[in-house]
Amino acid sequence: MPDPIRPVSGTDVPRFAGSGSFARLPEIDRVGDYDVAVLGVPFDAGTSYRPGARFGPMAVRQASRHLRPGHHVELDTTPFDRIQVVDAGDVPVTPFSIDTALGRIEQHTREVGHSGRRVLAIGGDHTVALPMLRSVVREHGPVALVHFDAHLDTWDTYFDAPTTHGTVLRRAFEEGLLVEDHSIHVGIRGPLYERADMDEDKRLGFRTIRASDLDDLGAAGTIQAVTERVDDLPVYLSIDIDVLDPAFAPGTGTPESGGLTSRELLRVLRGLTDVHLVGADVVEVAPAYDHAEITSIAAATVLFDIICLMSRR
Ligand code: MN
Ligand code: MN
Repeated sequence: MPDPIRPVSGTDVPRFAGSGSFARLPEIDRVGDYDVAVLGVPFDAGTSYRPGARFGPMAVRQASRHLRPGHHVELDTTPFDRIQVVDAGDVPVTPFSIDTALGRIEQHTREVGHSGRRVLAIGGDHTVALPMLRSVVREHGPVALVHFDAHLDTWDTYFDAPTTHGTVLRRAFEEGLLVEDHSIHVGIRGPLYERADMDEDKRLGFRTIRASDLDDLGAAGTIQAVTERVDDLPVYLSIDIDVLDPAFAPGTGTPESGGLTSRELLRVLRGLTDVHLVGADVVEVAPAYDHAEITSIAAATVLFDIICLMSRR
C-alpha cells in the first residue's frame, strides 16, 4: 500500500475550518485502498426513551475537528502514518422500517469492510450493532464481544418488538454471532426489570463487570479480566456512550447515574492492546441533549483511541 493520505493538519488549515469528515480524514473515494473506514450510521428508530441518535454521526464528526490526530502518547502510535484510515460517509438508512434499515447497514458495512478491512461505526442507536456484527462475522467468523454500556441490551422483546436497542445482543447470541462464554459487559449499572435478567444474561454467555466492580478491580484488573475473557479470538468492540456517567455524557438516549468518568473509560480502552479488534462501534450519542459538545467530544476521542489501537496490530 502507498504512503497513507493523512488527515488535514491543524497547522495547515485551522481546525475550525475546512473538511467536515471524521478527524478531517480523506473521504473514501479520494483513496485507492484503506485499512480502516469510519462509517456513520444515522439510525435511531430502535430507541426506547429519548430519540435523536440519528444526529450522532454529524455531531461526532463536528467534535472530531478538535482532535489533534498526530501522535498518541499513551498508546505510543502515530496512527495515520501507519495505516490508511478514511471516512466512508453515512449509510443511506431509512427512518421508517427497522428491518429495511438493518439490511442496508449490513450490506453497506459488508461493502466497506470487504476482504478484512475494518469498519468503525458512529451510531446511531445501539440497534446498529446487530447488522454490524452480522457483516463482521461473515468476514471473520463468530466474535467475542466487548461491550461497554450502562445496560445489558440482552432483553428479549420490548413492547413485542424483537429488534430494538435493548434487545440486540440477545438476537446476536441467538444468531450464533458470538463465541459462547467469551463476551463481557463493562459498566453495567442501575436497576433491572427483574432479578432474573442477570441470570438470563449469564445464560447467553456474558460475564459482567458492573460499574461498581470497577472501584474494586481498578483499571488494571478490568483490563486483565477483559483480555483473559476474549483470549485470542477476533473481537468486536461496542461502546454505548451511556457507559459514561451523565456528567460526562449528558447527550444520550437512556442516561443512568453512577457511571464511568471519561478518564476511566479511556484508561481501560488504552489497556486493550493485546486484543484482536476486527470491528467496533460507538453509539447512542444524541446531540439534542448535549451541552458544549461534552458527549460528542468524548465519543470522538474514544473513536480516535480505537483507531490507535487498530494501528498497532
Ligand atoms: Mn445503554
Ligand atoms: Mn446499549
